[in-house]
Amino acid sequence: MKEKTMTSADFMQMEDQYGAHNYHPLPVVLSKGEGVYLWDVEGIRYFDFLSAYSAINQGHCHPRLVAAMTQQAQRLTLTSRAFYNDMLGKCEKYLCEFFGYDKALMMNSGAEANETAIKLARKWGYTVKGIPENKAVIVCVAKNFHGRTTTIISASTSKDSTEGFGPFMPGFHIIPYDDVEAMEEALQNPNVCGFWVEPIQGEAGVYVPMEGYLKKAEELCEKHNVILMMDEVQTGVGRTGKILASHHEDVHPKMVILGKALSGGFYPVSAVLTNDEVMLTIKPGEHGSTFGGNPMACAIAVEALEIMKDEKLTDNAEKLGHIFRERMNHLIEKTDLVTLVRGKGLLNAIVINDVPESTTAWDICVKLKDNGLLAKPTHGNIIRFAPPLVMTEEQLHECCDIIEKTILNF
Ligand code: PLP
Repeated sequence: MKEKTMTSADFMQMEDQYGAHNYHPLPVVLSKGEGVYLWDVEGIRYFDFLSAYSAINQGHCHPRLVAAMTQQAQRLTLTSRAFYNDMLGKCEKYLCEFFGYDKALMMNSGAEANETAIKLARKWGYTVKGIPENKAVIVCVAKNFHGRTTTIISASTSKDSTEGFGPFMPGFHIIPYDDVEAMEEALQNPNVCGFWVEPIQGEAGVYVPMEGYLKKAEELCEKHNVILMMDEVQTGVGRTGKILASHHEDVHPKMVILGKALSGGFYPVSAVLTNDEVMLTIKPGEHGSTFGGNPMACAIAVEALEIMKDEKLTDNAEKLGHIFRERMNHLIEKTDLVTLVRGKGLLNAIVINDVPESTTAWDICVKLKDNGLLAKPTHGNIIRFAPPLVMTEEQLHECCDIIEKTILNF
């Protein structure tokens, strides 16, 4: 007997019944992607305006990444770090030269890379800075998002991230974001080994700090002998119109944490990059991951960055970002529903004029979906817009037309 073709409703019901309810997805079931487009199981086409939280900077199923991945998959996928392989060194060299660091430590998810950064900062704090045992402090900021592990959420101020998951890891001092005075005060503690921050807070709702904040952070970290730990998991790899968002302020963080688009969306790849002084504090056997730095991840990461360079996607993000914000600012003049647009490059958000607890932003995203564009609220009344960086100017205008029409008809 022929099996019944499954519909979107069937797939959603199946996830609901058998999967954990740890996400609240928009009601659309996707089965195909290419460039800036996604298709659902019924064959309806959408513009992707989330890019898997900025992991798909290179566009869906980029043919060069398909080729790199399949070639590597037919040759060697995993050796573990018990042995050397012929891909890891090449990839580490490429990453160091590309971003300007001495050494790279490769992991898989963004959260793991952040965990690695915490361990490196602490180890450096004890062995180089001379912080007394178990007294190391990492200064972090309110509304941060660095991942979901129990240590990382210990630094979180979000109720969703923390409630019911205690007890928490000590050693974090949380200060307000974008507050130079608080930073100046906190970094004076001699037991501080790191200042851990996102250059733009993506998950929090695309908060761009005032100009000069990152530069000041770099100066203060230098002055107090503290590692600037820049989490560029969401902002890095061209998303904001520079290869690292830190570069908007000419900052070269002592440590940078990368993930998401380092993989082009194919396979989890993350990395921490830093100098010899910090990286060499970790000795054999003290940190690792079975999959971290495997040959397949290495082949993908190098190709993902080569694509960024060859297709000038960072420049495209910068150019299209200006157009997007200009179009959204025109929209603000026509309606009271949107109060603000903010962002850099193609990491942007609009703020909806309603209380944060309202469902307006969600309802607008459902209407956007009905009109052929997929985006998602971040926190409450904020909608993040982050399309793949391979978008053309013409496509962007088409998308702005959809957003404008949807909001004006809402
Ligand atoms: N850091 C930042 C800035 C992020 O935006 C995210 C994910 O959204 C992470 C870390 C966690 O990455 P992953 O989900 O790959 O663990």
